Formats: sequence, structure tokens, C-alpha cells
Amino acid sequence: MKIAILSRNSRLYSTGRLVEAGEQRGHEMHVIDTLKCYMDITSAKPAIWYKGERLEGFDAVIPRIGSSITSYGTAVIRQFEMMGVYCLTESVALGRSRDKLRSLQLLSRKAIGMPNTGFAHHVDNTKDLIKMVGGAPLVVKLLQGTQGRGVVLAETQKAAESVIDAFRELRADFLVQEFIKEAGGSDVRCFVIGTKVVAAMERTAQAGEFRSNLHRGGSAALTRLTPTERKTAVVAAQTMGLKVSGVDILRSERGPLVMEVNSSPGLEGIEAATGKDVAGAIIEYIEDNAKPNQTRTRGKG
Ligand code: ADP
Repeated sequence: MKIAILSRNSRLYSTGRLVEAGEQRGHEMHVIDTLKCYMDITSAKPAIWYKGERLEGFDAVIPRIGSSITSYGTAVIRQFEMMGVYCLTESVALGRSRDKLRSLQLLSRKAIGMPNTGFAHHVDNTKDLIKMVGGAPLVVKLLQGTQGRGVVLAETQKAAESVIDAFRELRADFLVQEFIKEAGGSDVRCFVIGTKVVAAMERTAQAGEFRSNLHRGGSAALTRLTPTERKTAVVAAQTMGLKVSGVDILRSERGPLVMEVNSSPGLEGIEAATGKDVAGAIIEYIEDNAKPNQTRTRGKG
């Protein structure tokens, strides 16, 4: 198959591993810089151009879209979809997953466990909002934040009110969430492909920190999931419509609670912690699910 990886940098671990895994299985792999794609959206035959040439004959696209280029990246994926090319992450699913509020609303509709969460616009609601999620300690999260930046633990009611006021002053969008103390600074990243969790790691925050992000100095280790955790991760991924995702779960007294479903989960941490060939599993999934590009099939005809 001829497979495109939409990625800004071919030297990134995840991009490199996908190229390697694809080539090992005999596929033609192309790394395409998302921001350098330009599109012809006026003609009846939708097209994408890249470095002066029309992109043609692709059977599948693996989008690896960074959060800073979500909007343009979504448009590029949508254009591939209009060209009839199989996209591992669909444009609609990417858009959904990048909107934290929308994601949590969708997950809650499916009765998937999650920390009690609230959001509000008006200052008059601050005290009520804090009460709604069970009072301090609580977590305040910027909607735009990634890698643990913009996630604040407010240990007292006063601290919570101050943080909320400060975010409001900055006109930042945020949500307020129950703090899951018993998670003990750990969370679980479940790597879901299709309807299976193919690898899972427990990430633990460094001493004095509650955020377990590897970018914040957290460490990762292989973990065994309970059947409930496994099921929760798969249902969360399906709810978002993602065929490949990283579902982050907090282990709480009332069972697994989903924090986030990531649409471009990194491969480095999970492959290192679990020793699994996750890149290979992604390529296998594409082999099983992508229909060959129709224009190519016709051409061979
Ligand atoms: P980001 O998307 O920026 O990584 P997260 O919402 O995943 O932000 O939060 C970062 C980390 O903070 C999580 O991995 C987890 O360890 C911790 N954390 C986040 N929310 C909670 C919570 N409600 N209770 C306990 N710990 C939390």
C-alpha cells in the first residue's frame, strides 16, 4: 500500500517508527508535512498539492496532527477524505477530541466514568461551581492546555476561587474538576487500536507533583488492566470515533475515570514501557481495514 503520514517532522520518534513498521511490511511510506499541503477545493475533483506536485494514489493516511495546528490539519484530512482516501483518524473525530468540553459531554452521555466536572462563564457562578464538583481540593484545567501545562491543583476553597478568578481575568476557557486523590499522582494510558487495548502503562508523577505527564518528569511502567478498565478505554475510544487513541484513566475508588482521549498518542513512552510493537499494530490495523484507493484500483482496471 502507499501510505502517507501527516507529520511536521520525520525525525519524531512516532513518525520514524511508523515509517519503519510500514516499510518492514512492504508498504510505500511517505512523510508529508501537513502545513506544506495546499488544496484545490474549487474543482469537482478535490486535490491536494505538495511541493509542486499533486498527491495521488494514496491508499491510507495516518494523521499525526499537533494540537497547535488542529484547524489546518483537520482541513487537510477532510480533503483526503473527499478524495476517497482512507484516513486512520477521521477529521470529525479529530475535531471532537481536541475540544475538551465536547469530549467530556460526549463521554458522559455514554455513562463512561469521569471525574465530576463543571464549567461556567460568569463570575457569579464561581462558588456554586466549586460546590458542584464537591469543593476543594479540586483541579482547574485550561481547555487549551496540553502536557499538563495549565492543570492546577487548588487545595483550599480560597485557592480555588483565586485560580478561577485569575483564569477569568485572562479570559481563558477552563473547567473545574473533582480531584481524585486516591489516584496518588498516577494515571493509566491505554493505547487503543480498533476495539482492543494493545498496550497500557501506568504513569507516576515525580515526588511533590500530582501531574503524571512524562513531560512533567513522570515515570512509566507496564501495568495490567482490569476488565472494567479495558472496557472503559475501548468504549471511550469508540465514543470519540477514534480508531487509534490514547485513553487516559484515573484509578479511583469508584472505578476507572476517563480524563481524556488523545487522538495523536505518542509511541515512544508506550513502546519503551511495554516493549510492544505498537507502530506495527497500527500498520496491521490499516492493512485489515483500509480499502485500496479507488482511483488506483480503477487505474489498474
Ligand atoms: P493534559 O491534557 O494537559 O495532559 P490532563 O487533564 O491529562 O492534562 O492532566 C495532567 C495530569 O494531571 C494527569 O495525567 C493526571 O496525572 C493529573 N490529573 C488531571 N486531572 C486530575 C484529577 N481530576 N484528579 C487527579 N489528578 C488529575
